Amino acid sequence: MKLPDIKTQLPGPRAAALIAVDQAHVSPSYTRDYPLVAEKGEGLWIHDPDGNVFLDFTAGIAVCATGHCHPKVVKAIKHQADRLLHMSGTDFYYTPQIELARKLARLAPGEGSKKVYFGNSGAEAVEAAFKLARWFTKRELNIAFFGAFHGRTMGALSLTASKVIQKKHYNPLIPGITHIPYAYCYRCPYHVSYPECDIECVRWVEDGLFRTTMPPEEVAAIFVEPIQGEGGYIVPPPEFHVRLHQVAKKYGILYVADEVQAGMGRTGKMFAMEHFGVEPDIMALAKGIASGMPLGAMVAKADIMVWEAGSHASTFGGNPVSCSAAMATIELLEAGLMKNAEIQGNYMMTRLREMQKTMECIGDVRGKGLMIGVELVKDRESRKRAPLWRNALIQKAFRKGLLLLGCGENTIRFCPALTVSTEEIEVCLTIFGECLKEVVNEKP
Ligand code: PLP
Repeated sequence: MKLPDIKTQLPGPRAAALIAVDQAHVSPSYTRDYPLVAEKGEGLWIHDPDGNVFLDFTAGIAVCATGHCHPKVVKAIKHQADRLLHMSGTDFYYTPQIELARKLARLAPGEGSKKVYFGNSGAEAVEAAFKLARWFTKRELNIAFFGAFHGRTMGALSLTASKVIQKKHYNPLIPGITHIPYAYCYRCPYHVSYPECDIECVRWVEDGLFRTTMPPEEVAAIFVEPIQGEGGYIVPPPEFHVRLHQVAKKYGILYVADEVQAGMGRTGKMFAMEHFGVEPDIMALAKGIASGMPLGAMVAKADIMVWEAGSHASTFGGNPVSCSAAMATIELLEAGLMKNAEIQGNYMMTRLREMQKTMECIGDVRGKGLMIGVELVKDRESRKRAPLWRNALIQKAFRKGLLLLGCGENTIRFCPALTVSTEEIEVCLTIFGECLKEVVNEKP
């Protein structure tokens, strides 16, 4: 069994020297939880410049869907790099972008035809959705959710409601956005329980919001993550999207699914909204789409994407090398990785739920496929959040050679590459379990 291999103190001397240069020259706005310098990656394994080897359960923030440097993706990148690096889909045509658009349009949920706009990131995909929704509906208001993360450009940031630091000093943002509570059943904002609640959080939109402050005929779109990502890997109950979509449809409001984190096979289906049986009007895609090459895509129903030439574009969007990496990624997802995400995800959830039985600090285990969150609490009765345990655990795991990230206030997220094996999950869970015991013992 392959295990992490930590040979030096962390950071080791080479990593420490690089970090010192980084600190002198790189923006301090990034949030590095621990001093990992990634030198080389292969599958789920990351090597640092000092020869330390880490097991990566972050996949570069849910991006490296096919694992680090999958040979088929690397081959597609090299092949395309030899032929054409850039020409700009804004002004010209080229095969990889055309082929990828056709593929994504065919994959998107629902029968009707779709069209694709290409950008370089998740925020750009959301930004494009935001503009298209305005352009198409000619309406000025929008709805998004507390806990949502949609990106950091000014439009996407206006929809984001994750951490206040992300918004501090950037006001005024785009007006007309109302944030409402997400279906966070473990901590229901309405203090009711599923299923008796009858999805109160959706009922309130129509019976509360639309009757008091927000005229529905002025609302362009509802922006919603199928499963909330940065907000804490929160899976809403099965009826949530169906019911919210019904409300949206009733008032001619567009349903925009931000699939940036949950999409591209991570949850065991190509798009997470497929779990809920809802066909969104617009989808935002990025992260896993090209296994690490920068690419964002906004997929919309063809009869909605009717904006005129010149109304939106980006020089680099839909870069041919990124599009080729995306085609190779999708082939791998369809050839078995999506299925693996489902199988290994179910296995990991089962094992975590077993651990939960003996560990009082595991409040909630939730997820779909390989998008799994474990919410840490002081005890299961009070559900008091344990953010310090969560943060300490991430530090300890790093020092034992396991790379993890947090999400929400007190949740550990597991979002490994979709190539993950049962053995790798076992290694991860062994280290996770050790670290959890240590933090609970150290900080009562
Ligand atoms: N939307 C969601 C759901 C995300 O999780 C993220 C990033 O974490 C974004 C949008 C923004 O993507 P990017 O960082 O590529 O701009």
